[in-house]
Amino acid sequence: MTVGDPLGRVLAGTVMESQRTVRRQVSCAGIGLHSGHSVTLTLRPAPAGSGIRFVRTDVGNVEIEARVAHVASAHYATVLAQNGHTVETVEHVLAALVSLGIDNVTVGLDHAEVPIMDGSAVPFVELIRAAGVRRQPVPRLCLRITRPVELARDGKQIALNPSDRFRISYSISFAHPLLRHQERTFMLDEATFVDEIAPARTFTFLKEIEQLRQQGYAVGGSLANAGVVGEAEILNHPLRFEDEFVRHKMLDAIGDLALLGMPVVGHLVVHRGGHDLHTALALKVLEERDAWEIVEQPDAPELPAAADSPVGAAVSTGR
Ligand SMILES: [Zn+2]
Repeated sequence: MTVGDPLGRVLAGTVMESQRTVRRQVSCAGIGLHSGHSVTLTLRPAPAGSGIRFVRTDVGNVEIEARVAHVASAHYATVLAQNGHTVETVEHVLAALVSLGIDNVTVGLDHAEVPIMDGSAVPFVELIRAAGVRRQPVPRLCLRITRPVELARDGKQIALNPSDRFRISYSISFAHPLLRHQERTFMLDEATFVDEIAPARTFTFLKEIEQLRQQGYAVGGSLANAGVVGEAEILNHPLRFEDEFVRHKMLDAIGDLALLGMPVVGHLVVHRGGHDLHTALALKVLEERDAWEIVEQPDAPELPAAADSPVGAAVSTGR
């Protein structure tokens, strides 16, 4: 944004970032990873200040806000419940929305579970870019961490520390020869998310698949939408990154942290995390009111090149 931008707001000489929604309605279709159900997801523009809301079009347009207060479970996927209905596996689309700077949008679903697409966030990045981005004349608020908030459980740790930007450091350790230990740190902006994190796919262990299915999970899982780690090999080589697994964990964490309802200015540090730990930290952050402040965002990352692309038909990137 430049100073001449009519939507820019100058405070003490600083141009404040404005809220954004999608420019037009777009859809994609796929299947739910855990349910195996076919589902169409539709992004629609939403008013400033309304946040990210899921809308279940198959049950009378029930709305479910993307807020951590509505987390119903966070085991193999993050599930939200409100007004008597659920939306499931919300983390990848939320990560794409928040990383591409979309503050306000409705995410329509004609079934409970968000489509898994290829197991990564790339299809959602493409969908948002096809929709384009519209600035809204209201300053964007963000949650700035002012002192550490930490949580530890069963040898797993997570913390949100003060930082001048949004950063993530993530490490994983598995008792498996192919991925004993991986760790990464990124300073998150849109380009870093799109290039380094969005392509990383969901993964699972071959030996756990049968157990997952007996519990009703991963019914829609296949080599087309998840990395499958066998005893001695990755079944669907090539990996997109040598350390694709830890990058996918970062993707999940970004999506889960989006449930705070606004961008975070802080450094997320996670060791051996998962959806339950990510969402528990988000809840704890909201409870510790002296650990953060809400500020207007004084940054102005460039809009993606596709923001003013010609009006396109609904994008269909289904299977
Ligand atoms: Zn994931």
